[in-house]
Amino acid sequence: MQPESISHGAVKREEEHRSDICAVGRWIHDRGYAAATDGNISVRLGPDRILMTPTCMSKGMMTPDDLVIIDLEGRRIAGVRKPSSEFGMHLLIYRSRPDVNAICHGHPPTATGYAAAGIALDKPILCELVIGLGSIPVARYGTPGTAELSAALEPLVHSHDAILMANHGVVTYGLDLLTAFLRLETTEHFARVALVTELLGKQVLLSGGDVEKLTAVRARYAAGAQPVPMPSDDPTSYADGATERVTLTRRELESLIDEAVRRDRSIR
Ligand SMILES: [Zn+2]
Repeated sequence: MQPESISHGAVKREEEHRSDICAVGRWIHDRGYAAATDGNISVRLGPDRILMTPTCMSKGMMTPDDLVIIDLEGRRIAGVRKPSSEFGMHLLIYRSRPDVNAICHGHPPTATGYAAAGIALDKPILCELVIGLGSIPVARYGTPGTAELSAALEPLVHSHDAILMANHGVVTYGLDLLTAFLRLETTEHFARVALVTELLGKQVLLSGGDVEKLTAVRARYAAGAQPVPMPSDDPTSYADGATERVTLTRRELESLIDEAVRRDRSIR
């Protein structure tokens, strides 16, 4: 029996990581984020050891012994089953982001719909999304399991923690497995909200000033500062001029968010 909850943390015994991956696999399957044998999950065990889900197996039916350990070259070190055919994508992310210790990949229907439509989830319509993930871009299509897919993701991995993969699905990652999973859940939730606004035919975007405040909160969270409250209307809570309304183009907004994310990474 797998646990119903897992804890944050990247430093755990291998046995616990195995149990956590099976729990997250079941959540991904039960929430409909991966059908049949789709999806894959991994955790960094050490500098050259990645614990990963096997290929050709439902993520809702795995037991700890089904998992495979590979090195950073993709060679199997331990385990009976074959690793996920998407291991190249996982290795790219681990090599590019030393801060990342866990990765989740799935095909949650709404976010994957946006990916299939080539539409990024980058409009500032929800404050929590701006704080949690900034924006979610779409990587160009690459054949699954090939270097083409890794090449498509590479330019985006440094500046984002969740990426839509065109005509395919979603990949999210973070400091630990629970963070990576919650980012997958947040991405699908945001996609659903975005879809509802499309159905309603109206989206009210946060102003550039509001996005700036949220981006500042995001940077403080990421830097490990004391918990900070959500932005309020109190003008004294923010930097000079923060209450002033400004208008930004989408490109300016994206570069503002990207710059904030880059800045917060540099101080981690
Ligand atoms: Zn996939």
